[in-house]
Amino acid sequence: MRVIEQLVSQALKEIQTEQPAVFHQPEIERYGVFATMDEAIAASEAAQKRLLFEKISKRQKYVDVIRKTVLKRENLELMSRFAVEETGIGNYEHKLQKNILAAENTPGTEDLITKALTGDGGITVTEYCPFGVIGAITPTTNPTETIINNSISMIAGGNTVVFSPHPRAKKVSQMLVKMLNKALMEAGAPGNLISMVEEPSIENTNRMIESPQVRFLVATGGPAIVGRVLSSGKKAIGAGAGNPPVVVDETADIEKAAKDIIDGCSFDNNVPCIAEKEVFAVDGICDYLIHNMKLNGGFEITDMDTVKKLVELVTTDHGGPKTSFVGKSAKYILEQMGINSDNSIKVIIMEVPKEHLLVQEELMMPILPIVRVEDVDTAIEYAYEAEHGNRHTAIMHSKNVEKLSKMAKLLETTIFVKNAPSYAGIGAGGEGHTSFTIAGPTGEGITSARSFCRKRRCVLSDAFSIR
Ligand code: NAD
Repeated sequence: MRVIEQLVSQALKEIQTEQPAVFHQPEIERYGVFATMDEAIAASEAAQKRLLFEKISKRQKYVDVIRKTVLKRENLELMSRFAVEETGIGNYEHKLQKNILAAENTPGTEDLITKALTGDGGITVTEYCPFGVIGAITPTTNPTETIINNSISMIAGGNTVVFSPHPRAKKVSQMLVKMLNKALMEAGAPGNLISMVEEPSIENTNRMIESPQVRFLVATGGPAIVGRVLSSGKKAIGAGAGNPPVVVDETADIEKAAKDIIDGCSFDNNVPCIAEKEVFAVDGICDYLIHNMKLNGGFEITDMDTVKKLVELVTTDHGGPKTSFVGKSAKYILEQMGINSDNSIKVIIMEVPKEHLLVQEELMMPILPIVRVEDVDTAIEYAYEAEHGNRHTAIMHSKNVEKLSKMAKLLETTIFVKNAPSYAGIGAGGEGHTSFTIAGPTGEGITSARSFCRKRRCVLSDAFSIR
């Protein structure tokens, strides 16, 4: 006991004597948002030293404070509305649902399950322990959801986190970081468990990546940032892009499949990385599927000239999505083409060949190309090609267990959803916890507290085996 007391007292002394200058400024005004990246990192490091010596029950208390703060109706509405306003991406009602999901369904400290081995040699435990300061890069598409989800997981794991949000989501990220820090500090938590820099930029992200105080990097975003953190020489998690295909065969409940596909594809205007991006349907049921999609909010374009016009409108010369159309509603996109519709229209659908740009590119808009194929094996093969080896997410509507297994095995995706909308894969209408950092390339899967921890072994020799 005395040893522990000495360690705690030593650590507290260090915090008091070695604090960076920034730590002496009144925290109350900053609430985790700093003028420079170095200050944000220094404050995070000081906070982590304090968190390290706190009890697990305190960490759980902080997780509960984050949940409660986000779920307070006025906060929830504010961050959801602000995210849509600032980024111009997504749908307010769906942002509300995603923020609730992140707050309620991200696991806390219960995720850190200790493994114990006992025998004649004594007892050995393996525990999930903090890394220290984590640098987390977040996307425009889920700005608040990722901060909520990552903060809960990382703090539950005993870490602190410095966020580097997308510059286009700067204000809403700052508001959320301040809101969470204020609530945490009022509940007695060390200041700056969550921090960020005032002006997020590529330069600041690079500074964070290179900082020796940042022990672990987590990138949720497209290929450039995932590649950057994975080549940093540090422990890193890459949660990268997807292009989730959907296969529908003749054994599926077609009416349900059509509704599920439209619901999943239109969720938050298609920006979730897990959302349905293209469909491969067998010929025998393709017409009936399209008919039912139209009954559920699908707007079909049948004329290829109009499809061409649509492609020109929403994609760049390089074939990627135009930022100004990412996360816009189907109604908005149609309006830009001079086509009037109403809010019952959720997704723009069209039949195209499998090589079509709309099939092969991740656009993050409620535009859903449908490829008609002769049989389910061809559909699975095409789905494999369109997924481009991201191994992210795939969806299949079928009752044929053999073909479901075939597709799951071939595509090797982190998430494989059967007979449901894609969001069932992150705990909305399906079993399992939620994450907004889905780590395919590095293999952690649907990340949670343990994904951000080091495994450490503690050995007591010759005792405490009571068998
Ligand atoms: P993005 O890659 O443009 O930006 C993501 C983050 O990385 C931002 O904070 C951005 O500022 C930063 N960034 C990008 N390139 C950088 C570079 N070269 N150096 C330093 N920082 C850089 O992506 P986005 O448009 O914000 O988000 C959409 C993408 O993220 C899609 O591809 C989507 O599939 C993916 N995504 C994946 C997951 C997942 O869990 N796997 C979750 C959400 C989004």
